[in-house]
Amino acid sequence: MNQTSYAKMPLPPPLWTDTAAPAPETPAMAGDQRADVAIVGGGFTGLSAALHLAKGSADVTVLEANEPGWGASGRNGGQVIPGLKEDPREIIARFGEKDGQAMVCAAGAAADLVFGLIKEHGIEYDGVQNGWIQAAHTRAC
Ligand SMILES: Cc1cc2nc3c(=O)[nH]c(=O)nc-3n(C[C@H](O)[C@H](O)[C@H](O)COP(=O)(O)OP(=O)(O)OC[C@H]3O[C@@H](n4cnc5c(N)ncnc54)[C@H](O)[C@@H]3O)c2cc1C
Repeated sequence: MNQTSYAKMPLPPPLWTDTAAPAPETPAMAGDQRADVAIVGGGFTGLSAALHLAKGSADVTVLEANEPGWGASGRNGGQVIPGLKEDPREIIARFGEKDGQAMVCAAGAAADLVFGLIKEHGIEYDGVQNGWIQAAHTRAC
C-alpha cells in the first residue's frame, strides 16, 4: 500500500509508519480464495488469532480493508501493559472468580506472550521489556 492510496482513507497514516521498518507487501486479494478460517481485520486481534490457528495447521486468510496494523494496533502508544482497565479485584467481582481470574491471568501474561512471539518469529523491533510500575497511594500520615 503506498502513500497515494493512504490519502483516500478516512484516517491519516499513523506516526509509526515514519519510524518503523517498512511493512511487507500485502497485495489486494484477487479472484476466489478458499480457507479453513477467514478472519476480518488485521490488527493485534485478527493477526494473533490467525497466527495461533496457523500454528494448529489451519489454512487461514486475513481480510484487511486497508493494511495490517492500520487500525488501533498501528496507532497506539506502544506500551505493552500487563493489566486491564479495572483492577483485578473489580474484574473478579464483575465476572466471577473463575472467569475474572482467567482474565486477570491472561492480562498478566500478555507482555510475556507479546515478547515471546517477537523472539519466536525473529521479528525486528525496537521495544524493550523492562518491567511495569503500578503506583499505589495511601493516606498521608
Ligand atoms: C490512541 C490509542 C492508544 C492506545 N495505546 C495503547 C497502548 O499503549 N498499549 C496497549 O496495550 N493498547 C493501547 N491501545 C489499545 C490497542 O491499540 C487496541 O486495544 C488494539 O489495537 C485493538 O486491536 P484490534 O485488532 O482489536 O483492532 P484494530 O487494531 O483496530 O484492528 C481492526 C482492523 O480491522 C480492519 N477492519 C475493520 N473493518 C473491516 C472490514 N469490514 N473488512 C476488513 N477489515 C476491516 C481495520 O482496518 C483494522 O486494521 C490504544 C488505542 C488507541 C486508539
